[in-house]
Amino acid sequence: MTDRKAQLAANLARVEERIASSCAAAGRRREDVTLVVVTKTYPASDVRILHELGVRHVAENRDQDAAPKATACADLSLTWHFVGQLQTNKVRSVAGYADIVQSVDRLKLVTALSAAAVRGERELGCLVQVALDAESGERGERGGVAPDGVEELAAAIDGAPGLRLGGLMTVAPLTGEYAGRQRAAFERLMEISSRLRAGRPAANMVSAGMSGDLEDAVAAGATHVRVGTAVLGVRPRLG
Ligand SMILES: *Cc1c(COP(=O)(O)O)cnc(C)c1O
Repeated sequence: MTDRKAQLAANLARVEERIASSCAAAGRRREDVTLVVVTKTYPASDVRILHELGVRHVAENRDQDAAPKATACADLSLTWHFVGQLQTNKVRSVAGYADIVQSVDRLKLVTALSAAAVRGERELGCLVQVALDAESGERGERGGVAPDGVEELAAAIDGAPGLRLGGLMTVAPLTGEYAGRQRAAFERLMEISSRLRAGRPAANMVSAGMSGDLEDAVAAGATHVRVGTAVLGVRPRLG
């Protein structure tokens, strides 16, 4: 094994252990939580190693980095998640490789993603990104729609050709009433998810939790955790 592979294997094993013990503590089955490894800023060679180590879900947050990486890894069987703030002029590119866009937070994006999916003859899974610190009618600083805007976006995705509503995503807020209260934030997201699922049982994905707070997310009921640093190391630059 190369040094890098050994390092990633050891990191993955530690993350796996954290997820497994959180599931056990919460009385949940391990297979009900999917690990999505956030590979942003790391090279395609790392994605390849992760695939060899059994990872099947990867996430990226910038199209400029993600597009060439996805092309370089096109031979691998991977589900690509897009988790970054998305400009409409990048949508066509993202729709070419992403399977799931987790950061849908405005109607214009729904329209653009739908057009790109139809044109590319692909079906795109969409999660509505919720900003728990955003005021009614506004968006969060790191993207996301305020909780009272979720229903409108969900209905738009439901009605959009080429799109499939998968559920919800959030990033624990750094400001507002949930700052420093990840567990409470993720429980709030679960409440919003329950309401969403009432009429749409298939929209059952709940993406929450990162390297620092995945335990809180699993305890609250997340189905997907997005882990970067704890698997790949501290990122060389902001991303
Ligand atoms: C970078 C990123 C992550 C992973 O964060 P880590 O703290 O490195 O685990 C998760 N979600 C989103 C939206 C991100 O941009």
